[in-house]
Amino acid sequence: MVDDLTVEQKKIDSDVEQVKARRVRDRDRMDQGLVNNPKDLERMQHELVSLERRITSLEDEELEVMERVEEAQQALDSLLEQLRAADERLVALGEARDRQILEMDEELTSVQAEREPAAADIPAELMALYNRIREHKGGVGAAALHAGECGGCRLSLDNAELAVIRKAPSDEIIRCEECQRILVRTFESGL
Ligand SMILES: [Zn+2]
Repeated sequence: MVDDLTVEQKKIDSDVEQVKARRVRDRDRMDQGLVNNPKDLERMQHELVSLERRITSLEDEELEVMERVEEAQQALDSLLEQLRAADERLVALGEARDRQILEMDEELTSVQAEREPAAADIPAELMALYNRIREHKGGVGAAALHAGECGGCRLSLDNAELAVIRKAPSDEIIRCEECQRILVRTFESGL
């Protein structure tokens, strides 16, 4: 847009130069007394007036094009500024994302480190069962029994079921009837 207008401006510029050169040539011829015939003289004067008018009109046109160049340049500047602001935001977001990924990786490593000693002390048979359930239950094979509710599937156990669990020996494996996860008894189980 700006480029097109600049080309247009140059074209008008060169038109103005051409018309002015012709005016100079005509004037010189008259000044040097090369035009003697009154009819030619009159024709020449007419031509000078018309050249003058043409110059004025071309110069008006050029001014208008220059204004349009300025407007187009401002529009371009505004787009460039929008682009710059968006890119700046993109860079900042990318950096923030990378930082968060780094933090989460560190947390992942630290939780993995926590898991190891816990897993090491669980009897092999229970571990095998836990892993079997875990495969089908989104990575977690046990659920805390909390206030009479399975923490895995939110099933509420009725009083009769809770009574059975309450009487069960502490080393008996209790599982949720709904989601099959191993139910972990705690002080907050509601037993
Ligand atoms: Zn459940």
